[in-house]
Amino acid sequence: MKVKLANKRGFCFGVEDAIEIAERAVEEHGPGNIVALGPVIHNRSVVQRLEEKGLNQAGDLDTLAEGANVLIRSHGATPETLAKAEARKHNIVDATCVLVKKAQEVVKQLHAEGYHVVMIGDRNHPEVRGVIGYAPDVVVIDRKEEVAAALPHKERLGVVAQTTHSPEHVAEIVAEIVKRPFKEIKLHNTLCMEVTQRQEAAVALCEEVEVMFVLGGLHSANTQELARLCSAKGIPTHHLEGWADFDPAMVAGAEVAGVTAGASTPEWTLQEFVKGLEAL
Ligand code: SF4
Repeated sequence: MKVKLANKRGFCFGVEDAIEIAERAVEEHGPGNIVALGPVIHNRSVVQRLEEKGLNQAGDLDTLAEGANVLIRSHGATPETLAKAEARKHNIVDATCVLVKKAQEVVKQLHAEGYHVVMIGDRNHPEVRGVIGYAPDVVVIDRKEEVAAALPHKERLGVVAQTTHSPEHVAEIVAEIVKRPFKEIKLHNTLCMEVTQRQEAAVALCEEVEVMFVLGGLHSANTQELARLCSAKGIPTHHLEGWADFDPAMVAGAEVAGVTAGASTPEWTLQEFVKGLEAL
C-alpha cells in the first residue's frame, strides 16, 4: 500500500519539553521519588515509558506525603492546586507548556481588566480545568448550540480558547456569541500554532489519499480535533493509538493511505504504523 505522511505531525515543542523536564526530574530526585499529578501528556506509551524510568503518578495531592516532589503536567494546574502544593511544602517541578501558561495569564489579566471571561473548550479537559481557575465564574462553551443557554447578558466579554482547538471551531462559536447582547468583546488568540499547522497539513493531505489514519491518544484533544477535521473532509478517517488497533478492513479497496499524528504522539508509533501499512 502507498503511504503518504502529513508534512507537519507528531511531537510539538511543549510535549518535548514536558518529557525532558520529567526525565531530568527523575534523574535528579531518583526513580520513584517524583510524582506526576495525572498523565504528563495524553499518550499511553510515552507515559508508560516514563513510569518505567521511575516517574510515579497520582490523582491528587492528598494521597502524597508532605514535601514530596510533584510534577505539574503539560496541561498545567489550577492556582488552588499550586497553593495547596506550596502549603504542603511539596517541591514543584513545573512542566506546564508555555502556551498553556500564557492562556492562564491572559484569563487572569482579562478578569483584572473587568472582562467576564468566556473560554471556548472542553470543560472536562485538564488544560481547561486549570485555565478557568485563574478567574471567577468563567463561562465554558464547547459547541455553538450551548452559547444561548451558557451566556447570559454580560457587558464586557473576554474570550479565550483551549490551545488545541481549530480556528474554524473557535470562529463558529464566536460568531454565535456576537449575536448575544453585549457592549464589548475582547478576543485573545490562545490557539497553538503547532496544532494549527498539524491541522492544515492533515486537511491538505486528505486531498491526496483515499483513507486517513490519525495516530494518538484517544483522550488527546488535538488528536481528536485532527480526526474531526479529516472526517469533515468526507474521507474515511480512523483515530487509532497505534498499529495494534489496525484492522485490514479499514483499508479495503484503497491504494493510498494518509497518516498523521497528534502533538503528543511519538515518532516510534508513527514509524511502526507506516511500516505495517507499507507491508500490506
Ligand atoms: S500542542 Fe501546543 S499548547 Fe499543547 S503542549 Fe504542544 S505546544 Fe503546548
